[in-house]
Amino acid sequence: MLLARGGLRVLAVDRSAYGSDTLSTHSLSKSGVLLLSRWGVLDRVKAAGTPVTRTVEFRYGGDPVRIDVSGEGDVDGLYSPRRTVLDVELVDEARRSGAEICHGVSVAGLSFDPTGRVNGVELNLGTSTRRIGARFVLGADGGRSRVAAAVGARTIVEDPSCSAFIFSYRTGLADDLIQNDYEVRGRAFGVIPTNDGLACVWVAMSPQRFRTEARGNLEGAFAAEVDSSEKMTELLRGTERVGGFRGAPGHPGFLRQAHGPGWALVGDAGYYKDPVSAHGITDAFVGAELLSSSLIDVINDGAPEQEALARFQMHRDALAATLMPPVAALARLDLDGPASAMAFRQLNEALKSEWQLLHSDAVAQPAAVC
Ligand SMILES: Cc1cc2nc3c(=O)[nH]c(=O)nc-3n(C[C@H](O)[C@H](O)[C@H](O)COP(=O)(O)OP(=O)(O)OC[C@H]3O[C@@H](n4cnc5c(N)ncnc54)[C@H](O)[C@@H]3O)c2cc1C
Repeated sequence: MLLARGGLRVLAVDRSAYGSDTLSTHSLSKSGVLLLSRWGVLDRVKAAGTPVTRTVEFRYGGDPVRIDVSGEGDVDGLYSPRRTVLDVELVDEARRSGAEICHGVSVAGLSFDPTGRVNGVELNLGTSTRRIGARFVLGADGGRSRVAAAVGARTIVEDPSCSAFIFSYRTGLADDLIQNDYEVRGRAFGVIPTNDGLACVWVAMSPQRFRTEARGNLEGAFAAEVDSSEKMTELLRGTERVGGFRGAPGHPGFLRQAHGPGWALVGDAGYYKDPVSAHGITDAFVGAELLSSSLIDVINDGAPEQEALARFQMHRDALAATLMPPVAALARLDLDGPASAMAFRQLNEALKSEWQLLHSDAVAQPAAVC
């Protein structure tokens, strides 16, 4: 969307179907909402019935801490759209902006010129393959990125700390309050209101416990969590589940080399943090904003490629350096209440740096966006 708006000729391919779901608990942070607003997509997300949340509650033991997240310019609160809503709105807006988008088409590999520079992709069209030439190939293809593997992107940072998740959707919960409970070591749970009058109710546990207790038995493991917690039992009283349970076993966080000759990585493909951060979508948005601004400088204005892409990676890595440590600490789920509170305070400081970056010259300012 951003590259097409910058006047570039863009082809995006996705092996998934248009409108398909993605494993996520949907929460966008303030910077994510800001970018949706700048891009002109937030109103469509709201029109799809996504509720606004103006309060976030944390429980670390003792009295709950409530944070007011309402109002700052165009950001009137937080939004947590289902991915079947968010991804569709972004794809539609990218098409309106002039990008060509093909679903059900997978990237099988990349092609390289004799100097080793990436110069295209090999597409798997089901019964045939086709090579498409490209000046740049961007891997926005998730944590198991084929683009990252094909270019041999180096891992710069790896953090084994991670947690496993089980979640499902329920009716009957407040639609204007995000809840996080980190009171008990070894477990966290929370509620994130989303579309259709539903709220996503999640539980985080250690990957070891997930392997032994939850694999193949998500419903039983979730029920055991509820039974062992008065707070969860109270929270879910009178609510009704809609649909089944989904689970994620936990993956270590990483930061990969973000670019090389003819290629760059954005979103989870280059940078992944544990979902306790509820920040992966916002990271992908911020990365898209920074990378597109660099690439537009290169292609439209003849800026030196290495320098422009290094700028993208520098900003991404600086944010990651502040975000990854508190997220890793929370993902281990071994902090007591006060230490969890401290990690969330550090996370909040990191989010402020991100917010400042989005108001700096490093990204396109709103007036430049249609
Ligand atoms: C349990 C869980 C809960 C989460 N909760 C949150 C949350 O509350 N808030 C938040 O911000 N983040 C959350 N995240 C993280 C968030 O979902 C990701 O960070 C985000 O989806 C990353 O976006 P992306 O576009 O980089 O990758 P993805 O969303 O993974 O998209 C990658 C795309 O690439 C396509 N693709 C992959 N390989 C190929 C190929 N070879 N050819 C063609 N297409 C390909 C896929 O079909 C997919 O559409 C959560 C993650 C998990 C696991």
